[in-house]
Amino acid sequence: MKLFDVYPLYDVTPVSAKGIVVTDDKGQEYLDFYGGHAVISIGHTHPHYINRIKDQLDKIGFYSNAVQNPLQVELATKLGKLSQCVDYNLFLCNSGAEANENALKLASFQTGKSRIIAFKNSFHGRTSAAVAATDNEKINAPLNKQQKVTFLPFDDSTAFENEVKKGDVCAVIIETIQGVGGLDEPSAAFYQKIAAISKENEVILIADEVQSGFGRSGKFFAFQHHNIQPDIITIAKGMGNGFPVAGVLIHEKIEASYGLLGTTFGGNHLACAATLAVLEVMEKEHLMANAHHLGEYFLNKAKEIPQVKRTKGKGLMLGLEFDFEVAELRKKLINEHHLFTGGAKDKHVLRILPALNITKADMDVFFDKLKMALS
Ligand code: PMP
Repeated sequence: MKLFDVYPLYDVTPVSAKGIVVTDDKGQEYLDFYGGHAVISIGHTHPHYINRIKDQLDKIGFYSNAVQNPLQVELATKLGKLSQCVDYNLFLCNSGAEANENALKLASFQTGKSRIIAFKNSFHGRTSAAVAATDNEKINAPLNKQQKVTFLPFDDSTAFENEVKKGDVCAVIIETIQGVGGLDEPSAAFYQKIAAISKENEVILIADEVQSGFGRSGKFFAFQHHNIQPDIITIAKGMGNGFPVAGVLIHEKIEASYGLLGTTFGGNHLACAATLAVLEVMEKEHLMANAHHLGEYFLNKAKEIPQVKRTKGKGLMLGLEFDFEVAELRKKLINEHHLFTGGAKDKHVLRILPALNITKADMDVFFDKLKMALS
């Protein structure tokens, strides 16, 4: 059997990693400013993370959701406290797409309606409704295109209100900082306006924090920069630091009857241990504050590079926009300068998503490498 040819692959085979350094099978070290696509939040092989998972594995790795799992309760409590989202119920699942799928389904159940509003250049995953709400024709099959979705630009609140007034909208789903799209953000005024319009018209506001959440933006959730309180919040990626785990934070006002939400592996003991370890490290090492400060440092340093047309993003969810397409630059950064970075749907944007515990010295090395690659 061969592997399904899903991704264009760089010729790098990582075999070990520590912090933000990834080592390949030839012993070559790479600096990871991509975090495996915003997944590595506390650095690779963090000792506390390893110990927490190993200890859990020695006790019990999995049992079904038909019995009590105190780790899920501990996780919900800790997550509520650290994110300051206490009035929510937590449902644990396995991927960002699955979290969004459940969020959209809940919104439709709650309202009895089915049209979704999403935004231009959105990315919400590759499953049924999640991919329908993703602004990419090429990855939507006829099945997905049956879902009614309206894509709107950021910052046109009149268009938003007109769509909502049609009366058939169940949910608006929004990335506070677009990841795959290329780091675009709604203005705070627009975000607050759509939250207000949604509330007035009983449309469920879903914040997709799969990429921007878990401290990456410098606050626990990126919407917290804008004084918003969504009805549903979806999380994944950095939550498990590489362990497949995701979640849906559902405001208490939204009902979910027994059996509506469920998945065999969701919230298993190992997933809970991994997520708890991430939260413990985030708290102990003040990673949200570090993400904030290092983000500012990055944005200032980027201004010194003449080829950078524009900087984008917040905290450690960052983008550098160039006049040229960045595919060749990314290749050069990997092959010649041993630096992992990300791309975006906007081909002019280089995406930077390092672990939240990087240092100024790491950033300085990043900029040295970038300058060399650009010269
Ligand atoms: N939402 C956002 C904002 C994402 O960036 C992604 C992944 N790139 C997803 C959802 C889908 O997550 P997953 O790949 O875990 O299904």
